[in-house]
Amino acid sequence: MKIIIAGGGFAGLNIAKALAGKSDFEVTLIDKNNYHFFPPLLYQVATSFIEPSNISYPFRKMFQYKDNIRFHYGTARHINAETKTVETDTITLDYDYLILAMGTETNYFGMENVKQNCLPMKTVDDAINMRNHILLSLEKAARTNDLIEREKLLTIVICGGGPTGVEVAGMLAEMGKKIIEKDYPEFKNIKGRIYLIDALNALLNTMSVKAQKEAFETLGELGVNIKLGVAVKDYKNEKVILNNGEEIPTTNLVWASGVIARSISGLPEESVGKGGRILVDEYNQVQKIKNIFAVGDICLQTSDTKFPKGHPQLAQVAIQQGKLVAKNLENIAADKSLNPFTYFNKGSMAIISKFKAVVDLPKGFYKGFFAWLTWLFIHIIPIAGFRNKVKLSYNWFWSFITNDPTLRIIIRPEKNNTQR
Ligand SMILES: Cc1cc2nc3c(=O)[nH]c(=O)nc-3n(C[C@H](O)[C@H](O)[C@H](O)COP(=O)(O)OP(=O)(O)OC[C@H]3O[C@@H](n4cnc5c(N)ncnc54)[C@H](O)[C@@H]3O)c2cc1C
Repeated sequence: MKIIIAGGGFAGLNIAKALAGKSDFEVTLIDKNNYHFFPPLLYQVATSFIEPSNISYPFRKMFQYKDNIRFHYGTARHINAETKTVETDTITLDYDYLILAMGTETNYFGMENVKQNCLPMKTVDDAINMRNHILLSLEKAARTNDLIEREKLLTIVICGGGPTGVEVAGMLAEMGKKIIEKDYPEFKNIKGRIYLIDALNALLNTMSVKAQKEAFETLGELGVNIKLGVAVKDYKNEKVILNNGEEIPTTNLVWASGVIARSISGLPEESVGKGGRILVDEYNQVQKIKNIFAVGDICLQTSDTKFPKGHPQLAQVAIQQGKLVAKNLENIAADKSLNPFTYFNKGSMAIISKFKAVVDLPKGFYKGFFAWLTWLFIHIIPIAGFRNKVKLSYNWFWSFITNDPTLRIIIRPEKNNTQR
């Protein structure tokens, strides 16, 4: 059976891994990157805390010695269901079953100025770009004697008070306290400002009220200016414009505000629902079209009785759906009936600052140092590659005891290297 998996994130990768070595299947995994990466730790790359390679792993190495798995480095662009083919930016591949697992991309809610000028946080490229941009802003601030310009360069606005926004704000606030004064004697007695903005009335709005309160209080103590119930309306002339009329001058707008499903042409219009998510039945089969599955963030499944509006776009949903779809492909090959998907919610968590995190369990809540340790432990397990796990543990250990990692290095391709 020829299987094509478009997208090697949590969902697609788990299907490929489950089918690896099974001779009934000839699998081609397509990805626009030649590596799998771990999005929950992107913010640590963006804040110079860990190396990009700590959270990324090449697909080809992952599937060494797995003869039934092929990797295709490319972007899936168009499906032709009649001929059972999928076009990438370079070639056309044919399938018996196609799995769409391309996840989501940043949603700018139609704000073109924001899209052009902000710092998104969705990919490894985004994280490296944000790291370079913020380090460059610090260098420019160190050079200028213009106080207004300096304040603009030292102000960081983070839009989006979900786990990513909270984690970035906490990390940058800690950097401001523990590192910046040591690295930049120019800033003695000058403090940068960090704003965290969300249109809703709480941080971590998908978590418990206790978690929300803890995030609000801890970030407040770290000096983060939290603005809730206001939305970013525009970003022009180096000013973030809010819908209450307020303007914040800054050269650094971090966008952690929302996502929209990635699209691919060739699907019937009726197969696509809210947020661009692909509508699937209880087996993750795409509605109104044959032999195509969609899994993870890209799909919307309303058949699970506990989640009638669809599942949250989380790693665990993607992993569990990927594993079940792999099992169901084996059932199809063996002429057996398919099993429906139900999500097993293991809880959710967010890190707020050093030694402080919040953990919501299906029945309970805890916070503080033990929650922080749980967060580290849970986030090290799914990292691809044993060497990466060891390197990441060592880097964390070193950074947490010294409060001073050594990764604040501006590395850019030569052609982008003209801006100083
Ligand atoms: C910054 C950040 C922090 C997060 N933190 C958490 C967290 O703490 N806990 C949690 O549970 N979830 C978290 N999430 C959400 C979690 O990462 C997603 O739910 C999960 O990654 C979804 O898995 P997926 O396989 O559906 O998609 P993804 O992991 O997004 O994978 C999609 C894959 O498809 C590839 N791709 C995209 N388009 C194409 C194309 N056209 N052709 C070929 N390949 C393509 C991409 O390169 C990628 O490898 C976070 C997300 C982000 C961005």
